[in-house]
Amino acid sequence: MSNKKQKKNRPSNRNMKEKLFNTFGTICMLCENNFDKKDLQLHHLEKWEHTHTTTYEQSSLTCDICHKRIHKEERNDKIKYNILNNKIREYKKIYGKGRG
Ligand SMILES: [Zn+2]
Ligand SMILES: [Zn+2]
Repeated sequence: MSNKKQKKNRPSNRNMKEKLFNTFGTICMLCENNFDKKDLQLHHLEKWEHTHTTTYEQSSLTCDICHKRIHKEERNDKIKYNILNNKIREYKKIYGKGRG
């Protein structure tokens, strides 16, 4: 049984995505390309399994390709995985300015 699908559609995740769209637009925070809302996914900078909460700080938007890439590195190379997550954190720091 897959929890993944359910998780993706949790209402709190949808609300968080809207919040991120309002601040950052419909941009993938990793490749910085523009996408349709439906093609962007909520990625947790801290593993959801660790925190069990979806906060603004740990939420990000990634396209399907980048999202798969991040989680592939998570399995293969933790250092690269951290680098990718840090890149997203930097993006949020730069472009999230002026917002509480
Ligand atoms: Zn991307
Ligand atoms: Zn993710």
